[in-house]
Amino acid sequence: MPRTTAPTTTAPTTAPTTTPTTTAPTTRRKPTAAPSPTLAHVHETREDVAVISETPPHPPREETPEYAAAHHFLVYEKKAPCDVCGVTVDTLHDPQVNVWKATALETHHWPIERSFANACDPLKVHRDFPSVYNRVTLMQFVDSPANLKVLCSTHHRSVEHGIHHLLPAQFAVQKYLLDGYLIAATTRDATQVRARDDQIMQAAGMEPAPAPAPDSTGPATATATPPAAAKPVRGRASSPSPSPSPRPRPRRPKQTAPTGSAA
Ligand SMILES: [Zn+2]
Repeated sequence: MPRTTAPTTTAPTTAPTTTPTTTAPTTRRKPTAAPSPTLAHVHETREDVAVISETPPHPPREETPEYAAAHHFLVYEKKAPCDVCGVTVDTLHDPQVNVWKATALETHHWPIERSFANACDPLKVHRDFPSVYNRVTLMQFVDSPANLKVLCSTHHRSVEHGIHHLLPAQFAVQKYLLDGYLIAATTRDATQVRARDDQIMQAAGMEPAPAPAPDSTGPATATATPPAAAKPVRGRASSPSPSPSPRPRPRRPKQTAPTGSAA
């Protein structure tokens, strides 16, 4: 099972053109464990995660007119849905649709976080986004609809579900999960999350027996990995928080709502 060793400082995974100030960490591979009864149940997979962003120098953050216009267009004119649960500004107040109890439709800078933009090379960005070819066009792109992902407040910022707190694999799979299955938990609610996930897997006929009493010791957070004789889903580290933990039923939306925030 692959485990990522978190560095105390970030490091590129591909060859840098300049020498990094610290050496890169690497991925350490542990020998594959022999099949275990544990794998027949939802189980924790914990991994170290680099949690410190090395943000380049940048001006104080403030909402630009470009961002405000792009946000308004996506959320209120286009009425784009949350990329994970599908709730829109029109269905935000419909509990049947807004099962994650989101409070707003927001827009998340993706793939280029605004505060990271100064560390980007416009020519490299140009490979994927031809409109970018210098610093000016890079900054224009950053706040444009092409660099904004619409997410509800839950899938944007909550600790257990938000893009700001999950590992990429955990975040990406959320929209495809069985109703109610939670892929990540905090140390505070891991036991309950795992028990519920076990019930879901049992109901789906993918887990043989009632879940054994899970132990909830340990540090940071864990991934509730469904039973399977396979690769573990990566865990993550983050702090516990009062995030909403609705037991969803991802649905596709439609009613009115508030604003959003960028990140
Ligand atoms: Zn959502």
